[in-house]
Amino acid sequence: MTRKRKYIFITGGVISSLGKGLTSAAIALLLEGKGLKVSMLKLDPYLNVDPGTMNPLQHGEVYVTDDGAETDLDLGHYYRYTNAKITKASNVTAGQIYEGVIKKERRGTYLGKTVQVIPHVTDEIKQKIIDSCEQDSDIAIIEIGGTVGDIESQPFLEAIRQFQNQHATLCITIHLTYVPYLSAAKEIKTKPTQHSVQLLRSIGIIPDLIICRTESPLSQEIKEKIALFCSVPNSMVIEAVDVDNIYEVPIKLQKEGLDEKITHLLELPSQKSNLEKWENLLLTIKNPKYKASVGMVGKYIHHQDAYKSVVEALQHAAIICKVDLEIIGIDAELISSIDEIPPCHGYLIPGGFGVRGWEGKIFTAQYCRQNHLPYFGICLGMQVMIVEFARNILELTKADSTEMNQETPFPVISLLSEQVEMANLGGSMRLGAYPCNLLPKTKAKQIYNCSQISERHRHRYEFNNYYRSLYEKNQFIVSGIYEKENLCEIVELLTHPWMIGVQFHPEFKSKPIAAHPLFISFITAIKMQNTI
Ligand code: GLN
Repeated sequence: MTRKRKYIFITGGVISSLGKGLTSAAIALLLEGKGLKVSMLKLDPYLNVDPGTMNPLQHGEVYVTDDGAETDLDLGHYYRYTNAKITKASNVTAGQIYEGVIKKERRGTYLGKTVQVIPHVTDEIKQKIIDSCEQDSDIAIIEIGGTVGDIESQPFLEAIRQFQNQHATLCITIHLTYVPYLSAAKEIKTKPTQHSVQLLRSIGIIPDLIICRTESPLSQEIKEKIALFCSVPNSMVIEAVDVDNIYEVPIKLQKEGLDEKITHLLELPSQKSNLEKWENLLLTIKNPKYKASVGMVGKYIHHQDAYKSVVEALQHAAIICKVDLEIIGIDAELISSIDEIPPCHGYLIPGGFGVRGWEGKIFTAQYCRQNHLPYFGICLGMQVMIVEFARNILELTKADSTEMNQETPFPVISLLSEQVEMANLGGSMRLGAYPCNLLPKTKAKQIYNCSQISERHRHRYEFNNYYRSLYEKNQFIVSGIYEKENLCEIVELLTHPWMIGVQFHPEFKSKPIAAHPLFISFITAIKMQNTI
């Protein structure tokens, strides 16, 4: 008989930004380390259908999956920490749930019944939980976004209560809470945790395990107090003390015995999680040999999560290269000449939309090209590199992307529709994974060490092939192509040590224990340029 899948629900209490996504990913990693197969799902109670249209300042980065979904950035954590398949089904928002219910209502699926939160909305949520699980997964981890007590999360919590009631022996709830230290009173306070668990229990969900985020270690006495008030055994209260590096989280949680406690609660076979690779990773992080800085030039540099995957991917590569890397956020809007660019060992321009900060990014590309400094352009960053070269080398003054200037005389970046002279094409986003062929004798081919790759996209505009031969005559080559539509995916400047632009987002596929080759090559170039 096949083993029945078990479900772990992860809720959050007291405040947001406790690192529920990271904790969920770390739990998955610990369970995979025991040889179990894990599925991941993030339930987001907000009403947007997906975060694609949200401002990065509100929501942070939009993480894109292979199958072209624009999702919550926590899915990036899941991807980086685990082997779980992360797809469109791995992120469900209240917007999607209500959209699904309303579509069914219009189709007459409910046979004339009054459509209600219970059971129709909750049934839809329960179905999504089942749909998100990979067929042969042993465990499904379901993270519920937001904080217990939020009005919009109520249907989700109710659906989980029903689900747990229907599959009682297969489910556990882990509640992640915050235990603050009040410096004025010199005391650690458990009351907020007591209240958030009370709230959860009033909905009918009883946590099995409580993880306490805290700045300093909790005494046994405090843990026992939380256990008493929250009705869990003493052994089921564990602490998650702040760490210097996020990659310490799984190891810290293992030290607290979290993996053993979960397998005990779910009556799963128990063997110690093998975290050898992660332990080695931490050792490397703690013993860097070099120092370097990368300037990341963007619009949202003051929001720590807006370029999450890029920052992570840079750090993954830095670890492998034994570099202690400082990432310096540079506000593109503050650059109005090449003299205003703060000194760094290399520069990266991440993805972006809209004209704000555009010229500052172009100055950055010019500065890197002229000074032979490593430049890595991602998506919009590649378009920047192309426009800068047109304006300053190809003598196409006022060359631009039609996203920034529709009237430009030289639309070197334009909508696909303009390129093929067909209307109503290409106005929508190119999203998700596309194959890309790498051309022989190029840096790209050397870096990836293969002929075809697959990378994820999220953009509307493309390099205008009309200008391609002019660029190539000037040592600015196209080194990666999506052959089916003859679209340019990678460009490189042959007269420069490392100036590469990619139309896709390689950062989405980098993992701490499998850093992305482009990022490794970029950091290596920085290392070689500087005697650091
Ligand atoms: N705004 C550009 C486009 O739509 C680039 C998008 C991005 O960088 N993700 O093509």
